Amino acid sequence: MENDEGNIFWIKVDGEKKPATLNLVPGNQVYKEKLVKVKDEEFRIWDPFRSKLAAAIINGLEILPIVRKSKVLYLGVSTGTTASHVSDIVGPSGIVFCVEHASRVARDFLDRVAAHRSNIVPILQDARNPKQYFSVYGTVDVVYVDIAQPDQTEIAILNCKTFLKKGGYLMLVIKTRSIDVTKDPAQIIKSEIKKLSPDFDVIQEIDLYPYDKDHAIVLAKY
Ligand code: SAM
Repeated sequence: MENDEGNIFWIKVDGEKKPATLNLVPGNQVYKEKLVKVKDEEFRIWDPFRSKLAAAIINGLEILPIVRKSKVLYLGVSTGTTASHVSDIVGPSGIVFCVEHASRVARDFLDRVAAHRSNIVPILQDARNPKQYFSVYGTVDVVYVDIAQPDQTEIAILNCKTFLKKGGYLMLVIKTRSIDVTKDPAQIIKSEIKKLSPDFDVIQEIDLYPYDKDHAIVLAKY
């Protein structure tokens, strides 16, 4: 096992190196992921078919701005598969503000993830109204956006203008089919990136194939 910058671990499972995070709540599983003990620490294997952030890491993400003690605003948390790994990475001194507007998945998220993790603050709100997130205080280091909406880039920018610190990072998942099914995916990504250019330096764009079709993650610095 090797430790890469202290936030992602690579563990050999069945002869293959897989990304993993140090389990913040030992013994606790979130989505039936494999738990692996190494000496007296427990790691959760991070499945790239279930989490786009894991897919981006495997596909060559150059900078993972989410590190120990980071303050993260996460939009579109769903049932919390990815957010649980983000919670592992930031650790007990970090914090993850998790926004979700659908009460059905949010309930699942509360039961399976937020209830067990002291560094998660659930926010049942529409990401279009960041002024309604009353529990977010100060600025955050990273805004992670995975809401699969046609206007997701505008929503991401609004949230960054409200909460992201200068020099902080935006990680934006672009699902090309939810923006326009009739257009070429590469063209869509290009036009979404253009919307970011007045306020951000785009650092990298990572295609998530073969883990996710028609998805990319854009990493940009504010
Ligand atoms: N990020 C999750 C993961 O990796 O485990 C998957 C997110 S899923 C693709 C998109 C989620 O965004 C859905 O749960 C949906 O309800 C939520 N969502 C969509 N529009 C939203 C909005 N305007 N405000 C808050 N959440 C939204």
